[in-house]
This record gives sequence, structure tokens and C-alpha cells, in this order.
Amino acid sequence: MSEGSASGVSASSEVEVYFSRPYRSPDELVNLEAVLASDHAHGDGPFTKRATDKLTAIMGAPHALLTTSCTHALEMTALLLDLAPGDEVVLPSFTFPSAATAVVSRGATPVFVDLDPATGNIDADQVAEAVTAQTRAVMVMHYGGVPVALDEILSITDAAGIALVEDNAHGLGTPGLGTRGAFATQSFHDTKNVHCGEGGALVINDARFLERAEIIREKGTNRARFLRGQVDKYTWVDAGSSYLLSEFGAAVLDAQLAAFDTIQQLRRSVWNAYAAGLSNWAGEHGIRLMSDRAGLEHAAHLYYLVMPDNSGQSALIEHLKQHGVRAAFHYVPLDSSPAGRRYGRTVGGRALSRSHDFSTRLVRLPLWAGMSDSQVERVIAAVTSYGN
Ligand SMILES: *Cc1c(COP(=O)(O)O)cnc(C)c1O
Repeated sequence: MSEGSASGVSASSEVEVYFSRPYRSPDELVNLEAVLASDHAHGDGPFTKRATDKLTAIMGAPHALLTTSCTHALEMTALLLDLAPGDEVVLPSFTFPSAATAVVSRGATPVFVDLDPATGNIDADQVAEAVTAQTRAVMVMHYGGVPVALDEILSITDAAGIALVEDNAHGLGTPGLGTRGAFATQSFHDTKNVHCGEGGALVINDARFLERAEIIREKGTNRARFLRGQVDKYTWVDAGSSYLLSEFGAAVLDAQLAAFDTIQQLRRSVWNAYAAGLSNWAGEHGIRLMSDRAGLEHAAHLYYLVMPDNSGQSALIEHLKQHGVRAAFHYVPLDSSPAGRRYGRTVGGRALSRSHDFSTRLVRLPLWAGMSDSQVERVIAAVTSYGN
């Protein structure tokens, strides 16, 4: 955090505290100039290589391919797994729609399961129950970069001989996340810790999928092999689409990843300030904080509190808005959304009451790299003035 400049200005006349703001790195323009000067703006150029190397180093993952989005990386996993009508994929109801749209894009069926209210992550017991002879994969999402119970999930997927996919859009910065599934996906949308406007990555931990993933990303052609001199002309060899991030995106991403430690430090200091500044108030009001769990591993992607009920959720969001602070809820559970009802089903046809409960009580606070101390204090003061 740095000192704000608006000293002496009353809270009401200050601009509101944004919910999210993209980080700006000083190297972005330098890198973009280099792309413009190079005459190589399409994907797979030098910045793609540099950014990919930084990403795999941060994650400790063997291979990654930069993509146009996390959504597209998830679609690539659906193609790589050859999902087809009749196949099922088990995934949490409490997640972003992209995991489900990837499954539906192949005509397969998403099977939604409930969450563990301690973390917001998928409930491993329900995963075990949801896996059938038709199940081809389990897609998990590390909510806020808090690790899913992967030992339990992997024992289920290994026993069934099916793939684990980790949607790690929130988890860059939590050690080990994104390295245990056959695939993991990252998002570099500008609401994420590290961004290039729109972008993503497919992380490949099972090297058997690497060559085919390159082909799928390059419109179904073996262009990547051609560029490496492994074939003497390139041609259409498989299914695919255009999932390659341009060098402009890669250039911005490279600058962001170079600043990753700074970004994470800035975000963590906000997260820690909320944890310290809200605990007494939360205890007095029976409100649960993300930081209540001692020793929680997370990626400083988000900070949330869980209100006693749904009316508390809307009342707190409105109260914060009145105090110039933007807060937000998260994820309408997919099983209850119009497309979820049309294309998917829940495990055992049951109501997923914990997902609905969590989603209707959760409030996320502003969290971005570069919030000033005074902005963080404004958020804490606004939250703790609620209910008093
Ligand atoms: C942001 C997000 C996505 C989608 O990412 P895009 O890069 O915008 O496609 C998918 N899953 C989760 C959990 C996300 O937070």
C-alpha cells in the first residue's frame, strides 16, 4: 500500500473505492513498442516465449500454452479429452460459467455438485458420488486461490481413470496450484491478479497432451512443428480453433509477470489489513470472514465475508455503496441458472443448498494492487460502521 494523496478531503467528496483495478507495470509500453517495431505481432513470438517461461517458473509447471482466454483454455481441455454427447463432467455449481460452457460446447453434460462452506471449493464427498461410468473428467476451481482438497479428488479420478482439470483462474501465487491436474487453466482478464486485458493459459502437466494441444491452439494445424523444423510443410491435421494469444497480449503479460512479486505483496497487504481490521467487528456481529481460518493458503485474489443471511448481503453491499465503497457478491450457482437447468443436472438430482446459501450471503470487498492505505482504511471504516 502507498499513501493516498487526497488528504484533507472528506470521504463523501472522494471518488469511490473501486472494486477492482488492473495493475499497471512500467514495462508494458516498452514491451509493446518492441512488438510494434518487430513486425511480429501474431502469437508465438519472443514475448510469448518470455511470458510462458515466467508463468511456468512461477507455477512450477512443466508446460503452458498462452491462449486468448481462460474460457478458451477450458474449451481446449474439452477438445483434448474428446468430450462427446453422452459424456459427463463433474464440476462445482459455485464457479464461473466457462467450465460448463466448455463441456456444453462438445455436447457433453455438466454434472453440478455442492461446495464446502469452509472454503467455497467443491465438496470431495459429492464428487465421489457424482462419478459414473459416463464421467470423463472432474473440473475443480480453487476459489480465491484456496487449495481444493486435491488428494481426495485425485484418489477419485485416478481410481476411475479420468482426468482432473484445475481451473486456476484465481490461484496464481498459491504454491502448487495448477500442477496436479492433467490440465490447469489460467485467466489474464483484467480483473485477475496478473492481466493482459483478455488472455489465458492452458497448463499441461501430462506431456502426452502437449503436441495435440499445440495443434488445437493453431487452428488444427501442425504449424508449431513446422516452425520448429519438425515437418517440412504445415497442414490441417486435427480439430482446433484460433486460441493463440497475440504478441501484444504476451508483451503486456510479460511485463505483468515480471512484476508478479510486487503485485502479490501489494494485494496481500490489503488482504492482511482486512483480516486485522475486521475481526472484532465480525465477531461481535456473527459474521464469518475469509481470514477466520488460521494458516489459510490463498492467492490474495479476493477477500470475502459471509453475512448471517441474504438480507444482510444486500444491506451490506448497499451500506458500502452509500459510503463510496464498491463491493460485490459472487457466482449465481450454475445449476440454478437458465443454461445450467437446460444443459446440466445436479448430483442425484438434489438441490445444492450449500452453494445457494454461500452465494446469497457472500460479500467481496475491493482488492487490487495499488490501493492506498487511506482507501483500505475507508473500506474498513465503512464495513465496521455497518450494524452499529
Ligand atoms: C475469470 C474466470 C474465468 C474466465 O476467464 P477468462 O479469461 O475471462 O475467459 C474462468 N474461471 C474462473 C474461476 C474465473 O475467475
